[in-house]
Amino acid sequence: MSQSAHARSFAPPADTGGRRNLVGLSRQEMEAEIAGLGEPAFRARQLWHWIYHRGATDFTAMTTLSKDFRARLADTHVLWRPQVATAQQSQDGTRKWLLRLPDGQEVESVHIPEEDRGTLCVSSQVGCTLTCRFCHTGTQRLVRNLSAAEIVGQVMLARDALEEWPSPAEGRQLTNLVMMGMGEPLYNLDNVVKALKIVMDPEGLSISKRKITLSTSGVVPMMARCGEELGVNLAVSLHAVTDDLRNELVPINRKYPLADLLAACRAYPGVHNARRITFEYVMLDGVNDSPADAHALVRLLRDIPAKVNLIPFNPWPGTPYACSTPAAMDTFAAILMEAHLASPIRQPRGQDIMAACGQLKSASQRPPRTARLGDAPVALEKEKPLPAGAAEEGL
Ligand code: SAH
Ligand code: SF4
Repeated sequence: MSQSAHARSFAPPADTGGRRNLVGLSRQEMEAEIAGLGEPAFRARQLWHWIYHRGATDFTAMTTLSKDFRARLADTHVLWRPQVATAQQSQDGTRKWLLRLPDGQEVESVHIPEEDRGTLCVSSQVGCTLTCRFCHTGTQRLVRNLSAAEIVGQVMLARDALEEWPSPAEGRQLTNLVMMGMGEPLYNLDNVVKALKIVMDPEGLSISKRKITLSTSGVVPMMARCGEELGVNLAVSLHAVTDDLRNELVPINRKYPLADLLAACRAYPGVHNARRITFEYVMLDGVNDSPADAHALVRLLRDIPAKVNLIPFNPWPGTPYACSTPAAMDTFAAILMEAHLASPIRQPRGQDIMAACGQLKSASQRPPRTARLGDAPVALEKEKPLPAGAAEEGL
């Protein structure tokens, strides 16, 4: 049984009174911001430490800065985080937060504790342009991209809830990060890169690139940039071994078919045996789970340093699919294992609070175009335009 730790609150969007947000700025931008206040660059380093190592939410706590500077900062800037609208905890310890953004939109983040690690699943968009048939998020139209502040803010919010400030060197409950929440991260790559560079910075949140995995449905032209600029682990949502079936399940395949996707995987910067690409494969009863599919998968991944995550399908209201039987999943996994393809069957986590893979969705809807004009959140980072072609991907 799930429990709701907080009642749903309807606080109005954060009002920054025209003050600018320091969270989500790159180090260079932070220095420029501080230079604008007539202060030297080392003050920006001090601020960085307070914000990302100590988790300060208030300038008054920053005792290494002069009182005068703290007062001026409080007049001109804010340290903004997403607001928790609802917090839930699963019986297995998984926690899910529905987060309220400055313009009233909402996204979800999930923390999954395990024995030797704790993983935060972070969202990159409100909704998704893509419409993968088995995914709950895919039934929600894209509302907008998240800003870098809103992405890094999810990590800071989790650290708040886990009471992990200052950043502990050891024994952390938040050790790993996966860009596997709502949205397609490669369609918001500029903001994802900016946010993850802040997350990886060793003088702050300091989660190393080896502990970060970005999952894509297969936005082929953006994959190399992800490897070059971030060097994080890549996960690819494969789910089918033929173009016919993948066109149906993961419709972006119509634009970037399997041959192109696998070529981009082979060329992914830094890919080698110690650092394999993870292929995610959702187990759908009678759809993609036959022994023949498993053999075809082995052939498809033959020349790619790969591991496979078999994800039992997580149901959601109104879905036409069911999860494969345990016997079908075991047979499928055994065929991959025989071919020396590591292929764990993922244990679903947080299903009782709809926090498992593909179950996330918020009630946010895209406002009519007239209402969107000029409604960018005041003083917070502006939404970047969507990349060309993103809208038409909603096939
Ligand atoms: N948009 C990105 C990342 C978010 S989805 C992507 O598609 O990769 C994270 C993972 O959950 C993906 O592999 C996705 O295919 C999988 N997923 C989606 N719906 C699911 C469901 N109902 N059950 C199990 N996995 C699901
Ligand atoms: Fe979007 Fe990923 Fe869901 Fe597909 S699986 S609809 S890309 S969030």
